[in-house]
Amino acid sequence: MSRQIYLSGKFVPQEDAKISVFDHGLLYGDGVFEGLRSYDGKVFRLHEHIVRLYESAKAIWLTIPMSQDQMCDAVNESVRINKIDDGYIRLVVTRGAGTLGLDPNRCSHPQVIIIADAISLYPKELYEKGLEIITVSVQRMHPAALNPRIKSLNYLNNILAKIEGLQAGCIEALMLNHKGEVAECTGDNIFLVRRGALWTPPLEAGILEGITRDAVIECAQAAGIEVRETPLTKHDVYIADECFLTGTAAEVIPVVKVDSRPIGPGQPGPVTRDLEQRFKRLTQTSS
Ligand code: PMP
Repeated sequence: MSRQIYLSGKFVPQEDAKISVFDHGLLYGDGVFEGLRSYDGKVFRLHEHIVRLYESAKAIWLTIPMSQDQMCDAVNESVRINKIDDGYIRLVVTRGAGTLGLDPNRCSHPQVIIIADAISLYPKELYEKGLEIITVSVQRMHPAALNPRIKSLNYLNNILAKIEGLQAGCIEALMLNHKGEVAECTGDNIFLVRRGALWTPPLEAGILEGITRDAVIECAQAAGIEVRETPLTKHDVYIADECFLTGTAAEVIPVVKVDSRPIGPGQPGPVTRDLEQRFKRLTQTSS
């Protein structure tokens, strides 16, 4: 099905949605993006995603040529015009067309692209049985090199980790940071449950501040579950009672094996199940 793509101010059919080969988004991964989700035609936590987009842009000295309100309107219009109920929205801002050199000052106009499409989900059975993941050798980017809090178009760090995971037969992979602490997965944040509390790496571990992560922390707090954002090691993962991942596309997905070790009894646990349900209710009520 042909989509209407928002491209810097207008909607064009996807066949005509083209940008320059000189765009630094393409040449250097110079730009930022967001992945959003709509439920029943409403975008979940739109404001939070837009704020994160503008913060990422600010961190790389990229001025987005429209206001946050205009961006929200454009996203909502993309969902409406493409008649997306439960779908996925990719919002991309590139540095724009420049010269072959690195200098961003030679780029003329940042390009804003919004693609609203169907969502491709992990297979349903993985939510029932839980995922098996491995820790990969590719470290999460050092925050002083390219801070993982910036959702930049340069995702090679994550892609290399994903490839290593896929080669080991795992569709998601756990990345450690430069200190050897647990950071996050290639496209999802990680949570552990131990002794009834919820544990997750802090932002300083060098992770993306996931919108789903924040929502799940709120769900846990509402349920009276203690939440600890604290540095974690692989050992903490191995001895956890439960483990799950969060992300816009994945939502809340249980992890039952890490590096071939069963987590807890090797089945999705009760706290994970409870938070899955609470998160689902949140998407149905507050989007
Ligand atoms: N970490 C990384 C590296 C990601 O790319 C993502 C988004 N796919 C997440 C975590 C989860 O973030 P969110 O809940 O905002 O989708």
